[in-house]
Amino acid sequence: MLTPIPVLGFAAYSGTGKTTLLKQLIPLLAARGLRVGVVKHAHHDFDMDTPGKDSYELREAGASQVLVASHKRWVLTYEKRRSAEPALADAVGHLCVDELDLVLVEGFKHESFAKIELHRPSVGKPPLYPGDPNIIAVVTDGAPPVATELPLLDINRPDAVADFVLGWLRGSAVRGDDPRRDLVRYYRWLRQYGYNDSHSGNASVRDEDGFWVTPTGACADTLSAADLVRCPLHGACPDGASLDAPLHQMVYQRNTGAGAVLHSHGPHSVAVTLNGRDFSPVDFEGQYYFDRIPVISIPYDRYLEQAPDRVASALTSHKIAVVRGHGVYARAENLNLAYKWTCSLESSAKTYSIARQLRNVAEV
Ligand SMILES: [Zn+2]
Repeated sequence: MLTPIPVLGFAAYSGTGKTTLLKQLIPLLAARGLRVGVVKHAHHDFDMDTPGKDSYELREAGASQVLVASHKRWVLTYEKRRSAEPALADAVGHLCVDELDLVLVEGFKHESFAKIELHRPSVGKPPLYPGDPNIIAVVTDGAPPVATELPLLDINRPDAVADFVLGWLRGSAVRGDDPRRDLVRYYRWLRQYGYNDSHSGNASVRDEDGFWVTPTGACADTLSAADLVRCPLHGACPDGASLDAPLHQMVYQRNTGAGAVLHSHGPHSVAVTLNGRDFSPVDFEGQYYFDRIPVISIPYDRYLEQAPDRVASALTSHKIAVVRGHGVYARAENLNLAYKWTCSLESSAKTYSIARQLRNVAEV
């Protein structure tokens, strides 16, 4: 969902205490300097007006919009012409977002946007996080009923929840044209479409005099732009950067036109190159993009020492290379193109492996 302001939801079954938590959280966020707005989904027949009030009588007389304004606040009542579920993006659009830093949302749990789940085992309902990839943390007063790597926050520690929200906001407040946003998006796609598992692979993007790289142990499902590590083009990469950061650095040093490097573990790409021989696609598209994909064999225990130089060497004359038994490295001018090479190779490898199973093609 595209909104002009960071939007963070609180999802839970009724009776879990969403409003109570929000009432505790809002003053803590305000104390941290944030201007907070709230959008709350309500029952269909809710009404803030009551019979006898002037605003109620004017609306009942047939006014389709009533704006009541004083020197302190204004309230707009808008009568919808057709009954329909409100969309969150529309609701946020009614706010004066220039005067806010963050919008907290209660309800709208079926819409796709970042949410914190409130889970109380005593309510007796199943958790939402196993089925909602938008959930970024769980606030609970018990053990998680389904194992998860999501951050777990104590429902009785609203200050810890406020700190988490602040950290999330810093990560999401990255500018729209910041390359970190794109890097996180592509790294997630590699995971979502099966080129990596939750924590495998890594990725980087050039930015001015250095590059951003995923952190060591990054989880593609929960990574945010604020987690990325900045590395220089020359010299040591900082602690916390991917163990492959020196490899990415060497690729950029040897290819001044390189703008992105993606490392993934596409299972077909790895499987068809296990024989250690360079791979030549048998399908037209693969042949069009790649004449030959070099396959590099590096002993497991010499990986960190040998991989940077050997992969970077292969990527000076090839846009993509495979390390035997491990994975794929693609370099390109930008993330989109590196992603395309990664996807194309996996597709060619998949076609080839199906053709081999059908005995329709000779071994390459
Ligand atoms: Zn790997």
